[in-house]
Amino acid sequence: TIAPAHDPRPDHLVLEGLEKRYDKVVAVAALDLAVRQGEFIALLGPSGCGKTTTLRMTAGLVPASAGRIVIGGRDVTHLPPYRRDIGLVFQNYALFPHMTVAENVAFGLEMRKVPKADIGKRVAEALALVRLAQYGERRPRELSGGQQQRVALARALVIRPSILLLDEPLSNLDAKLREEMRTEIREIQRRLGITTLFVTHDQVEALSMCDRIAVMQAGELVQLGTPFEIYERPRRAFIADFVGRSNKLDGIVREAGVIEVGPLTLRATETPARGTEVRISVRPHRIHIHPHPGSARPHARTNLLVGRVVRTTYVGDVFQYDVDVGPGVMQVEKPTAAGPQPISRGDEVELEWSVVDTLVFEDRP
Ligand code: ATP
Repeated sequence: TIAPAHDPRPDHLVLEGLEKRYDKVVAVAALDLAVRQGEFIALLGPSGCGKTTTLRMTAGLVPASAGRIVIGGRDVTHLPPYRRDIGLVFQNYALFPHMTVAENVAFGLEMRKVPKADIGKRVAEALALVRLAQYGERRPRELSGGQQQRVALARALVIRPSILLLDEPLSNLDAKLREEMRTEIREIQRRLGITTLFVTHDQVEALSMCDRIAVMQAGELVQLGTPFEIYERPRRAFIADFVGRSNKLDGIVREAGVIEVGPLTLRATETPARGTEVRISVRPHRIHIHPHPGSARPHARTNLLVGRVVRTTYVGDVFQYDVDVGPGVMQVEKPTAAGPQPISRGDEVELEWSVVDTLVFEDRP
């Protein structure tokens, strides 16, 4: 889905020129980000890009070296975590092992001196929200990883924070459970309408869960956009590569819309100035593979290459074909079908893809 260009919701969490330095290391550099009321934004990037540091500054767990943090119009930059009105969930759950589930969830309310009579009711509500109503008397070690993470979520939400901060909450779960928890967290977030900032290095998580994604590279926010924008219109080769998979070929712009890649000529809709060295990126599943060269007709709107299959990999739902096209090997993905396989290793094939699927970048990470 493509979000409307104009979102009328007001900004709720604003990071302004936020910066973190450790001696000479700049962990986060002059970061600006505004999260709207009720919005779910992912901070996405590879290890060491500064996403956790950004979240920890927002939470008040590490002081900012420069910049401001504003929550609901209130400058919280210098406030301790418990005065920022935030709920926090960590990767390792951080539950108290000697307390029951209900006691874990009640802890934040007791610290905030909520009347005893209300605590029981609110704990029950929070546990029902994460579908653990029957588990209040268990200890954390008597729960699965997914259940422990739901307790951590209940504990963060029971204080009714205005902002939810999630630090890689799904990373410790196995693949199947992670997928279930994605949907569950997203549904709870929607139901409560709670403004959420979510740290992840997992592009599928970011794409499938969030309203917008803030991609970070080496301490900087390099692109902010909807999942569709980030995937279809990445601003850098780094992003095209990190979000989804892509084939890379290096070339040089010969004229507007035309790129020379060694002996090959490729077309793209937009290119930088003539003579610019560029990197081309094409998604494997956007390439059609034809088993017999000459079966596709040359077309102004597509790129057409001949190559030789050097490897085939069966992955269940798709076949991956590695095709040597001369200046490089391109990977192509094709959904599998029952029956004999029309393409084998060593075959000569033709690759064809739309000019609009030829992404062109000036960075070569
Ligand atoms: P990961 O996914 O591995 O947690 P990240 O994107 O969250 O990575 P950060 O943990 O925010 O990255 O770290 C950003 C940079 O700051 C890294 O280069 C890291 O080594 C550095 N850094 C983080 N904490 C400290 C610290 N306490 N002292 C010195 N350098 C630090």
